[in-house]
Amino acid sequence: MGWAAPWGPWASPLVRSGNSSASSRSPGVMLTRDRYPVQRLPFSVVSEDDLAALERIVPGRVITDPEELEAPNVDWLRTVRGSSQVLLRPRTTQEVAHVLRYCHERNLAVSPQGGNTGMVGGSTPVFDEIILSTALMNQVISFQDMSGVLVCQAGCVLEELSQYVEERGFVMPLDLGAKGSCHIGGNVATNAGGLRFLRYGSLRGTVLGLEAVLADGTVLNCLTSLRKDNTGYDLKQLFIGSEGTLGVITAVSILCPPRPSAVSVAFLGCPGFAEVLQTFSTCRQLLGEILSAFEFMDAECMQLVGRHLRLASPVQESPFYVLIETSGSEAGHDAEKLSSFLEQVQGSGLVTDGTLATDQRRIQALWALRERISEALSRDGYVYKYDLSLPLDRLYDLVGDLRTRLGPSAKHVVGYGHLGDGNLHLNVTAEAFCESLLGALEPYVYEWTARQQGSVSAEHGLGFKKRDVAGYSKAPEALRLMRQLKALLDPRGILNPYKTLPAHA
Ligand SMILES: Cc1cc2nc3c(=O)[nH]c(=O)nc-3n(C[C@H](O)[C@H](O)[C@H](O)COP(=O)(O)OP(=O)(O)OC[C@H]3O[C@@H](n4cnc5c(N)ncnc54)[C@H](O)[C@@H]3O)c2cc1C
Repeated sequence: MGWAAPWGPWASPLVRSGNSSASSRSPGVMLTRDRYPVQRLPFSVVSEDDLAALERIVPGRVITDPEELEAPNVDWLRTVRGSSQVLLRPRTTQEVAHVLRYCHERNLAVSPQGGNTGMVGGSTPVFDEIILSTALMNQVISFQDMSGVLVCQAGCVLEELSQYVEERGFVMPLDLGAKGSCHIGGNVATNAGGLRFLRYGSLRGTVLGLEAVLADGTVLNCLTSLRKDNTGYDLKQLFIGSEGTLGVITAVSILCPPRPSAVSVAFLGCPGFAEVLQTFSTCRQLLGEILSAFEFMDAECMQLVGRHLRLASPVQESPFYVLIETSGSEAGHDAEKLSSFLEQVQGSGLVTDGTLATDQRRIQALWALRERISEALSRDGYVYKYDLSLPLDRLYDLVGDLRTRLGPSAKHVVGYGHLGDGNLHLNVTAEAFCESLLGALEPYVYEWTARQQGSVSAEHGLGFKKRDVAGYSKAPEALRLMRQLKALLDPRGILNPYKTLPAHA
């Protein structure tokens, strides 16, 4: 194994972000109301008078063309489809406030939407909710060169923000495969985790402030840029991870760390999951403060990435692969650490093959293998997606267990994820949605996770598809308090109904 040398053949041009939209693929997604047992709540139906009133609030930005409404009615995974006939594109907080005040008075339901890359059916309407898109709220408001505090509107695309702050010597504290499409408001609304979580932690720590519009149109300005502010309850936390059910986030203040000057990525093959875990443990000991990501994927993921995206593996075929990123301020120091780490894992047989990249193009190529797994899976067929937090020593057990349980009724059962955060993405693909396969998966997966005291949603949220399983990871008292908060902030329940809160008490 030569660390600097062999570089696998890349069969196709490299694409960094998984940003293909629902509309660019074939139609034919079943309506959510037909597939799932859900009843429309007694909201008003949008009338001609409503359209005229909304047109006065956001002139020229009331979309009713059925063709334009097709994509925003379907989720990225193509598993849910609403039948909204109206999409609004406000540009300012005041416009959002006027829209919500009007909808509140008229009892019209609203589904906030950012980049529509969510994984749990939270961003698309279930019935005919008005879609409130943040796509035109895409302005940077301010950036402080000294502190790295970025203040921007909620509709800024994550990748564009990354470029903006990188030009100024900083990085965004989060990164994810959907970066080319997802909005920062959507990231905050889902409390997205992603690829930099291991290094920079949760958005609950890096978001310093936010502005949100409540269901009745009240603008809540908590857009502070202060690191410390103990003036009572930290209200912004209510909106982080609230998935559009408590308010529409219109602006965000976020702390960006300095851009590391030396970044390296090692892509390694491991003979078993026990070796993956030991590699992680060695990595933490030997790389310490420069470790910035530790991701893993199994052999089936690599096969699917190869088959559907024509990306070739840069290392010999292995049962597991890990991607390790280091980020530091001194290339020589980091290289020395990495080299002693690689020597150790190679010498002890934890790793059987590997490649190391230090230049940007090759780093991106290695990241693409990991970041584009979701895309490869969605091209494989219907995807049953589970995003679980589990104890590290049990993290992969469920994958093998399910392969045996499901047998040939599933096309593929794969496991990958943010190993450094204890986060497994368990995905099962099939030719098409199949009720009996779903029955074999659920509640089995959730009960298994609850037995390990894990979480049934590590980073994707609950949205529409997972709202009824929250109870596997949350106490009844906590769920009751969530309902009380919803009733307080959105008494008519117009904001993203049918999402996040369990349907039944
Ligand atoms: C290829 C790929 C890779 C991904 N990787 C990761 C990953 O590593 N980690 C991770 O956590 N997620 C990941 N995701 C899931 C998804 O990208 C994140 O959940 C993302 O944060 C959603 O942002 P969005 O702008 O697309 O939001 P949307 O999908 O539009 O909306 C998501 C939810 O937030 C609400 N919402 C959106 N904007 C607002 C707003 N301004 N105010 C209030 N509510 C709002 C919506 O109503 C909905 O409930 C991935 C998705 C894809 C397609």
